[in-house]
Amino acid sequence: MHPVTALRAHRHPSTPPAGRLPGRRPLAAGRGLNLPASSAHFQPPPCSTVRASASAQPIKPGSAYPAGATCSTCGLCDTPFIASVRDACAFLGDGMARLDALEPALHGRSRDGRGGGQEDQLGVIQAQFLGRMAPPPPGAATQWSGIVTSLACAALEAGLVDGVACVASQPDDPLCPRPILARTAAEVRAAAGVKPSLSPSLELLPQVADAVAAGTLSRLLFIGVGCQVQALRAVAGQLGLASLLVLGTNCTDNGWKKGLETFLASSSASPSTARHYEFHVDYRVHIVHADPAAVPTERIPYFSLPASKLTDVIAPSCYSCFDYTNGGADLVVGYMGAPYGGDGTPMRGSWQHVVVRNARGAALVDALSASAAGSALEVRPVVEAGSRAALVRATVEADDAARRGEGPTSPMPVWLGTLIARLLTMFGPRGIEFARYSVDYHVLRNFLYTRRHLARKGGASSPPLPAGARAIVEAYNADGWVDRLLAAPPGPGPGGPVVKGRGADGWWVGGGRAEGGEL
Ligand code: FAD
Ligand code: SF4
Ligand code: SF4
Repeated sequence: MHPVTALRAHRHPSTPPAGRLPGRRPLAAGRGLNLPASSAHFQPPPCSTVRASASAQPIKPGSAYPAGATCSTCGLCDTPFIASVRDACAFLGDGMARLDALEPALHGRSRDGRGGGQEDQLGVIQAQFLGRMAPPPPGAATQWSGIVTSLACAALEAGLVDGVACVASQPDDPLCPRPILARTAAEVRAAAGVKPSLSPSLELLPQVADAVAAGTLSRLLFIGVGCQVQALRAVAGQLGLASLLVLGTNCTDNGWKKGLETFLASSSASPSTARHYEFHVDYRVHIVHADPAAVPTERIPYFSLPASKLTDVIAPSCYSCFDYTNGGADLVVGYMGAPYGGDGTPMRGSWQHVVVRNARGAALVDALSASAAGSALEVRPVVEAGSRAALVRATVEADDAARRGEGPTSPMPVWLGTLIARLLTMFGPRGIEFARYSVDYHVLRNFLYTRRHLARKGGASSPPLPAGARAIVEAYNADGWVDRLLAAPPGPGPGGPVVKGRGADGWWVGGGRAEGGEL
């Protein structure tokens, strides 16, 4: 039996989480959170082959996008599929709460607790494991060990799909996203690596629909992040595909290319040579450079980053996001659920966390296992240790204080930040518990942001939350802690360009702040 098959039987970790939140209770009447429930009436669109309205015009350069400041530039509105924006956009109407109806339709069940108490954070889990490609796929500048690239190549080579929608780089800028419809494994390998800014991946939809109509494509693999996947799922029935596989990655704290430049300029000693970076599970940002012999990997403690210079780096969409772990994907790959391998382990040699949500996701893993590259896939069971709850609260409170201008005026010295990072790596939440820490923190931070800064038409004061995020907020508010944070003065909202369309230079233009924006 291939190790992946064996691990699939090992559905959930046998080790119970070492730390637990206080028991989840419904909010007391009058407690004040008044979380809007998702619509019970949403149905995923039928699998028809109706094309997007020919009369629907993509957004014109310079015009406002329907989701305004919270648009993540997923690309849908740059196509005639904009006709479906009201039902598809992750930031309009029921928004990300559509996951509650989408998940049972896609995976056969909701997040019902069968995932070992982890599904509020991780989504529906049919199976999960740690994996790594050893060695990484040759000739591919992968972000981690290249599981995503290897899965996509295997799917193409096995004839499981005819094309892969993925994100390559702009010819003149390796960090700038360029969505492509890859037809060969070589094209997929050339698109390896994260381009760490918002990618208009759904602008590929007309190309996909045309290829389907021409008879050159019927089975598609889409690689993308949660907001893109949600919009794609809503219009997938219009594409005429025989099958759609979705290989997701986790995603949080994304932003515009300009924000990335600001981040690298203020954090790295060599911003122009940076090729990959991650907020790693050892509480340090690892920045990998084009020539590691010339510029070794930088490891900067989170606590020593110049927070005051980084206020506009994350886009308002990503402060409004409740789908970190990509609930609508068939299979999800990320790094935050895997334990730290030590300073001697490069990102490309590290374990990754793989969550299989349904039979389509399992078929993708099987295709890799059976392929020539399958012998390079190492797998082992997930692990977890430590306790997240106190650290989540401390992180949210520190973040909130900084936003009100009450945080430290200068970054923590690197020696002290490194010491704290080392202690947390040894004794703090690790493995799956670290992933749950990260999701809890981002859900709570984003909940506070949306409640404070986003007004909606029609009375509700913030976007509806999907059930998993709602459960997280309720658990931390069992003693009224979230209410108390909401009662404090909020400070300014995150800024950034209001998304208005493509500029002549092919990138996004605009200006203003998200604060007070309307959804
Ligand atoms: P590779 O084999 O290098 O393949 C990476 C794939 O990512 C490529 O196929 C490419 O199509 C796709 N891609 C590149 N840029 C983008 C983009 N901008 N938008 C959509 N798709 C893109 N994991 C976590 O655990 N926590 C996080 O906070 C987190 N944030 C992420 C943010 C972004 C924008 C992305 C794209 C990924 C993020 N991930 C996160 C996932 C993680 O960084 C790796 O993508 C994942 O572990 C796969 O690594 P790999 O070596 O297998 O990928
Ligand atoms: Fe359109 Fe996508 Fe922006 Fe929503 S996020 S407004 S669907 S481009
Ligand atoms: Fe989209 Fe959320 Fe990632 Fe932002 S953080 S790019 S909204 S999935």
